[in-house]
Amino acid sequence: MSEEANPRRPKRKTYVPKPETLALLKVSGNPINGLGETTVRRPSPFFWHPPDQHPYEELQNVARLSSRKCPGSGPAFMAAYNYPELVPVAEERSGASAEELTAGAREFALSHEADDFGVAAMDQLYVFEGYTVEEPWVIVLALAHNYDRLKEVPSDETNGVGVVDIGDQYARGTRSSYGLANWIRSQGYNAHAYPGPSANALVLIPPAIAAGLGELGKHGSLISRHFGSGVRLAGVTTDMPLVASGSSRFGADDFCKSCQVCTRACPPGAISEEKQMVRGMERWYVDFDKCIPYFAEAASCGICIAECPWTRPDVRPKLLATMARRGVVAGAASWM
Ligand code: SF4
Ligand code: SF4
Repeated sequence: MSEEANPRRPKRKTYVPKPETLALLKVSGNPINGLGETTVRRPSPFFWHPPDQHPYEELQNVARLSSRKCPGSGPAFMAAYNYPELVPVAEERSGASAEELTAGAREFALSHEADDFGVAAMDQLYVFEGYTVEEPWVIVLALAHNYDRLKEVPSDETNGVGVVDIGDQYARGTRSSYGLANWIRSQGYNAHAYPGPSANALVLIPPAIAAGLGELGKHGSLISRHFGSGVRLAGVTTDMPLVASGSSRFGADDFCKSCQVCTRACPPGAISEEKQMVRGMERWYVDFDKCIPYFAEAASCGICIAECPWTRPDVRPKLLATMARRGVVAGAASWM
């Protein structure tokens, strides 16, 4: 959908944040995110963490309210926050091998709402400062958007189709990650679920990339070879023996170097054209201070992921073929 065709999108370069929204951005988020830092470190708790852990409680409230005023959004997000109970860990452990347990977990997840599944060894760089994760494995589940609904973003009081799809995918992530954690517990191993949209111990994109679910895009979100940027994530950590999936490149990072679709579509111009140094890693970066006022006012926005050419089901196979022809698909993907 072009920006002209969607009446809810500001014309290019016309967006100006409301003064009352800007006034709530009391502290720049870029230093908290580690922009410009050359030393590798764990991420700091940030937006969508409990409000005593960051300075954006009021902005979070604006974002939540602008989302909830959209038709259908309330029930969709209520389902996302409806956490099932975790069952006790079974006293008797399964005697299956790591290969068998990985296959069993994958089969369970893919038959319980997850659209993709990957395993990575836990790395403490995936854990926000102040949190502890002791399990040695992280499973990341991908939940695909419905493109025809996602492309309706941003939402407002007149049209909630896009943000309802966001809520629906988070709700599927909650159900599938808790379901998988309980399946693992039934095998006699510990497991915890980490669905969105609230943030918890785990940052999800880096382990998703390590687990082969995609590459980091210029818009700061995951690009999946199967679903493009129209995808949400949920994590499960466990001490159940597993086999790592391994990362996988298909050319998204290389494609981003010459694509400007999201940088041009982003109303506040928040998406950096070049990679930036962030917590000791050179990577794509979105300027929090530019993104978040629009994100908060526009019901969680979503324009960059909807506009990304990889998200379009009719375009994605052609891009995959083009990048394969260019020979850029060899090697491991990295979140740098
Ligand atoms: S979510 Fe943020 S970065 Fe993406 S288009 Fe909206 S304002 Fe821009
Ligand atoms: S729109 Fe283009 S530059 Fe942005 S993430 Fe997608 S492929 Fe990369």
